[in-house]
Amino acid sequence: MIGEWIRNVPPLCFENARIVDAERGETRGTLRIARGRIDGMNVKPQRGDTRFDLRDALVLPGLMNAHDHLELNNFPRWKNRSCYTNAREWAMEGNARLDGDAEIVRARAVPLKERLFNSGLKNLLSGATTVAHHNPRHAPLREKHFPVRVVARYGWSHSLYLAPEFARAYRKTPRDAPYMIHLAEGTDADAQRELPQLDAAGALRDNTVLIHGVGLTQAQRARAIETRAALVWCPSSNFFLLNETARVRDFSDARLLAIGSDSRLTGERDLLDELRVARATHQISDDALLRAVTSDAARILRVRDVGRMERGMRADLVILPNTFRSAADALGKISRADLCAVIVNGQVRVADSEFEALMPNAARIRCDEREKILARDLAERYAQFTLREAGLELL
Ligand SMILES: [Zn+2]
Repeated sequence: MIGEWIRNVPPLCFENARIVDAERGETRGTLRIARGRIDGMNVKPQRGDTRFDLRDALVLPGLMNAHDHLELNNFPRWKNRSCYTNAREWAMEGNARLDGDAEIVRARAVPLKERLFNSGLKNLLSGATTVAHHNPRHAPLREKHFPVRVVARYGWSHSLYLAPEFARAYRKTPRDAPYMIHLAEGTDADAQRELPQLDAAGALRDNTVLIHGVGLTQAQRARAIETRAALVWCPSSNFFLLNETARVRDFSDARLLAIGSDSRLTGERDLLDELRVARATHQISDDALLRAVTSDAARILRVRDVGRMERGMRADLVILPNTFRSAADALGKISRADLCAVIVNGQVRVADSEFEALMPNAARIRCDEREKILARDLAERYAQFTLREAGLELL
């Protein structure tokens, strides 16, 4: 996780900001950041502060990507049939190809450290400043200069079919940490049998985070909500594999819905593209989508100091152009090149060139045909590695 390497940076005051909190709505004014955290809203700049006029741009909490597999984003989007009835069939076919498919062999040969770093960049570029990684917490994910915050306390199993010992994994997870598992990732009878199995094993509780949930029946959704288990919705991955997605309205109404991009093995490029797919299903309101990638996600993933615009919260922020009616209106319409700036721990990490005054020594990049600037330390590591992010170029 990103450390606090910014203690000596002077406080930063964003003026003329439209400050967006998914629970409270939008306010206009000043946002002061000090020591990597939100220090106050609508406070007067103090002597020594760096002042920056946002000209009515929208500032919201950095987005939370509630489901990714950070070692798999350099793999090709892959399937063997047009549609599956259960992700288990896809997983079995994929396993059989691990050593035989040249493209997959090449992707696996890239060192893990590079793959993880590029996945960090993938998320950062899309404004996802916190990511829930569904797999072991590899050492590079704990490094203080990893591009984004990775949820540190969690338990996990892959799925009932790949992890028959799931109940033990659940019991080993602290009660105040999320336990993540793929569940009902299918449209067949097998998918419908999974939730009762999880429940019978005592692993369906208020820290359980169900991923996908496409095959859940209405009664099963009600049972999950009764226990306060949450759902992570990954619609593009679902449509790609199953030609269908989860019904999420009741989880959203119960404030138990988060959204994940999944890896590019099955999902869209990043969380913003995922939000476009989510929005197009018209299942929940734009405001509910915003909550699902900020405040509700933070609560579900038990990351207590992100996801809200409040004093003391981490200054992990996304700045959106002033041309949108609201932040909720922008989500589902914007792509990563449209973001004005992404800030982690109070530090601008990638931005439009207007933010140059806040990014000494930034490197110039081209991101999807738009010129931007990237923090020097990230650009240097990107340059050292061989793995390339499509659409990202150092100038
Ligand atoms: Zn997963």
